[in-house]
Amino acid sequence: MPEDCIFCQIVAGEIPSNTVYEDDEVFAFLDVNPLAPGHTLVIPKDHHERLNDLPADLADDLYEALHELIPAVEDAVDAPASNVGFNNGEASGQEVPHVHGHIIPRFEDDGGHPIHAVGGSPPDLDDDELAAIAEDVAANQ
Ligand code: 5GP
Ligand code: ZN
Repeated sequence: MPEDCIFCQIVAGEIPSNTVYEDDEVFAFLDVNPLAPGHTLVIPKDHHERLNDLPADLADDLYEALHELIPAVEDAVDAPASNVGFNNGEASGQEVPHVHGHIIPRFEDDGGHPIHAVGGSPPDLDDDELAAIAEDVAANQ
């Protein structure tokens, strides 16, 4: 584990956290600076920087935990909805370089925004450009 990774230190118990879930592979705890009551971070115990760095079986484990935790978090704070997302890489705003999914409970008229608010200026792409991007993505798998 990288010595200076805050989330590795939380998993190791060296930094305290409000833990809400733990199994052999996955750990979840409340965000210290919550955007809403119940704001939860779900992480693999092993250190990987980005979602696409995870081995497939660990990605499955992480998704399974998220799937279980979303309703648990929403119910705990009586939220009718949540935003669930990952900042994936520094340019996206990821500050802690250890994969973490955010579960952010949402409430009617809470002043928040949909996930579309995270993007920069929308690009002006015509149909051919969209089709070319789709082809490139399909070819990269
Ligand atoms: P990021 O911007 O990397 O997606 O989000 C990192 C999140 O980790 C932030 O929401 C921040 O409040 C949270 N965070 C940073 N340090 C700590 C900590 O020591 N403990 C907890 N519980 N959360 C932290
Ligand atoms: Zn780490």
